[in-house]
Amino acid sequence: PKPLAGRIALVTGAASGIGKAIATRLATEGACVVIADLDLATAQNAAAEIGTADVAIGVQANVTDEVQVQASVDAALLAFGGLDLVVNNAGLSLSKSLLETTVADWDLQHNVMAKGSFLVSRAAARVLIDQKLGGDIIYISSKNSVFAGPNNIAYSATKADQAHQVRLLAAELGEHGVKVNGINPDGVVRGSGIFAGGWGAKRAAVYGVDEDDLGKYYAQRTLLKREVLPENVANAVFVLCTNDLSHTTGLHIPVDAGVAAA
Ligand code: NAD
Repeated sequence: PKPLAGRIALVTGAASGIGKAIATRLATEGACVVIADLDLATAQNAAAEIGTADVAIGVQANVTDEVQVQASVDAALLAFGGLDLVVNNAGLSLSKSLLETTVADWDLQHNVMAKGSFLVSRAAARVLIDQKLGGDIIYISSKNSVFAGPNNIAYSATKADQAHQVRLLAAELGEHGVKVNGINPDGVVRGSGIFAGGWGAKRAAVYGVDEDDLGKYYAQRTLLKREVLPENVANAVFVLCTNDLSHTTGLHIPVDAGVAAA
């Protein structure tokens, strides 16, 4: 059987970019996946690209909305009969300096990523604890949760919040057999809606490079001199939830092709 046969996954923000690559990989490895995103049609289209309705379904869920989050968990139970694996991937980035950041900017970043992940993890944990089958909760945090960069305060602060949710939930849910781990990507330019939607132009300006060369710029500053792709992040998610890593919780895996020490 495939490594994730019989597992049921919920991936937030999975209609695009890293989330879509994660949902695709999990389905390839045998899992059934619920793709939750802001727009129903986009989520359903992403699901249809991955497989038939017995493998992947798309649902509308804004992760800041408690009722919609609960509905996405309920959709997994209704369509596939359970829930084993949850990926907190939904996110956005405004890429603003301290002086540019408005209260509304701060609240939006924190609502989507800090509060949104909390709501998803809480709704999922209720099911995971009740099922008594263990499970995985994975946060797509960021290199920015650890390393400081310019013009990124609200985004980076909320990514650090997510990183601490990983440690806190690993401690709290361990006795239920639920592993909680994080992944810290960096520089996933290709395929990323965040980069295409303005963040790329802003980062290019910060680094003084042409936006078209941003992928190459990120690659040359890594230790491995490699561009990071959505599939590289998806690989890390897959590895974390295989039985081979059954004794690993509270970990953050960098998927950034290597960061120089200084
Ligand atoms: P993306 O824009 O392609 O994907 C983000 C998805 O989240 C989109 O489909 C969007 O519609 C969805 N989303 C946004 N707000 C939402 C909400 N309130 N409720 C539900 N869904 C919502 O961008 P991506 O680069 O694939 O980013 C995915 C995750 O990876 C984000 O959390 C991002 O912070 C993180 N990340 C990305 C990079 C990178 O280099 N691209 C680096 C580190 C971390």
